[in-house]
Amino acid sequence: MAMLFKQLDIKDLEGFFSTEENCLKFLAEKKWEEGFICKTCGNFNYCKGKTLYSRRCTRCKHEESATAHTIFHRCHIPITEAFRIVYMVCHDPSVSTYELSRQVELRQMTCWKLKSRLMECLKSQGEVDILFHDQKKP
Ligand SMILES: [Zn+2]
Repeated sequence: MAMLFKQLDIKDLEGFFSTEENCLKFLAEKKWEEGFICKTCGNFNYCKGKTLYSRRCTRCKHEESATAHTIFHRCHIPITEAFRIVYMVCHDPSVSTYELSRQVELRQMTCWKLKSRLMECLKSQGEVDILFHDQKKP
């Protein structure tokens, strides 16, 4: 089941994705759909990490959060608010960051950062995938 953010509707947002736990669960399930692989050492075995839905490599102890390497990578805002922003941008890419910041009650700069990442995805792939493909990395 490939779920892209374009298909996210307001019912999902106000229902399933209204809790932090469900948002993280969703990201973890999608990200590790084909199994866990440690980004540091390539190991496939993991145990539960310290934060909700994070996974910890059993060999090198590297811990990866549910949001790491997703569109929300290093995005320090409440995950439920981040989902709202994705929803709003996907449904109306012309939405201003001023409007976003008013809706989610976050600083405009914070909204701008996430929005520009989303727009990059929309431009290059025509949709927002939950996985963030950083062009700078080899
Ligand atoms: Zn490892």
